[in-house]
Amino acid sequence: MADVKTLYDDVILDHIKNARNYHKIENASVKAEEFNPLCGDVINLYMVLDKEIISDIGFQCSCCGISMASTSIMTEKVLGRRRVEAQALAKQFIDMVERYKSEGEVKMENDALAVLATVREFPSRISCATLAWKALEKMLAT
Ligand code: ZN
Repeated sequence: MADVKTLYDDVILDHIKNARNYHKIENASVKAEEFNPLCGDVINLYMVLDKEIISDIGFQCSCCGISMASTSIMTEKVLGRRRVEAQALAKQFIDMVERYKSEGEVKMENDALAVLATVREFPSRISCATLAWKALEKMLAT
């Protein structure tokens, strides 16, 4: 039987080594810089919001692995989505991580569950995992 924990590590590692949408967007319509004082993570997010659709999203960061992976996963999930859909996803993700929900309780894909598994193992990293998602909520609220 495949070790579930190993699978999750691989998913997270892949997002760290091959971070999705890791680039600055010069003509971004919404920008944000988020800082996590507990870990020292700094994330810069860039988004193009076109008629309520996230038509482009990118990020750059000076941050730890879990924060990098969670941001990469976030950008991949919300790219091309409508504002309301992305807002719902962010709410769901933050709620999941902050309450340590069990996999059975949430309907999320493997990559998001991998973040959850990591946070369950290292509870001090909750703020790293939710940083980009909270930034997303702020960006979409404007
Ligand atoms: Zn961190």
